[in-house]
Amino acid sequence: MLVKLAAVFWTVGLTCGSPSHGENEQSFGYDSGELDPLHWATEYKTCSGKYQSPIDIEENLVTKVNLPLLRFHNIDTLPTSTIITNNGHTVVLQLNYTAPVMISGGPLTPAYKFNQLHFHWGVNDSLGSEDLINNHSYPMELHMVFSNTDYDDDKIALTKNDGLVVLAMFFEITKEDNLVYSEIVDSLAQINMPDQSTHLPVGFTIRSMLPVSTEHYFTYKGSLTTPPCLEVVQWIDFKHPIKLSHNQVQAFRMLRSKHGQLTHNSRPVQELSGRPVWYNVGGFASLNTPIIERSCASPFGLVMSDIILLLGCKLVALMLF
Ligand SMILES: [Zn+2]
Repeated sequence: MLVKLAAVFWTVGLTCGSPSHGENEQSFGYDSGELDPLHWATEYKTCSGKYQSPIDIEENLVTKVNLPLLRFHNIDTLPTSTIITNNGHTVVLQLNYTAPVMISGGPLTPAYKFNQLHFHWGVNDSLGSEDLINNHSYPMELHMVFSNTDYDDDKIALTKNDGLVVLAMFFEITKEDNLVYSEIVDSLAQINMPDQSTHLPVGFTIRSMLPVSTEHYFTYKGSLTTPPCLEVVQWIDFKHPIKLSHNQVQAFRMLRSKHGQLTHNSRPVQELSGRPVWYNVGGFASLNTPIIERSCASPFGLVMSDIILLLGCKLVALMLF
């Protein structure tokens, strides 16, 4: 089990950096003087792919859809242990569970299993998120990485265009500290240097990290935002941001990479290249209600209405792939 966890940590850590692994150590950065994003493709050819992330999402150009509800499983359970690591590129948290955290529904055909979460931030509060909304940048972005349970091995998932799902959450600055993040922020002083890790004494539930509403989100097909930039990710960007104080975000900027202070770690936006971006308007359940209340004459009629609606939504979900 330990071997498998280590393998998962390594492979999925590719999404946004990974811990040091000797000869496998990733060599890239965000500033000139190191392998900065403009030059990633010289060492990682797949970073010049056609369908890369992040992107700028223009709300007036998205296609509005009404997908089935996203379903979350085991998100109210505290992990048995939580390890926080400065891998030199980001802060990554590995949460260990006796039963896996899963998501399904929405645009997702199979179920996806949680692997890790990590953050991207900018040099100041005016920028830092990777995806932009209407060319607007948020000061920080959280990525929760999930892998497709149809594939036995997470390394295989990284070779499939439906291999990963990343839930992306934006942050906005408020005066008050967000207490959910207190333990994470307080631990950053213990992982100031790259490759340092520590355990969180208590940890947190995945639910506590999600925005209040998970109904409204943008979704599109893209890539890992760090080398090797594999185009294997279904992105789900929640519209409603999470609140964090300036001091809490600032604590992330104080961390060190191998090249100096890790003041920012966001890849610039990439070409959309004609990709569709969908916006889930939400209200799937409430839209279902009138159909049931319309009360077709027979119970069979009720079922057929639901089936037709669900098939329609399933079709939309399939079109996303
Ligand atoms: Zn990321």
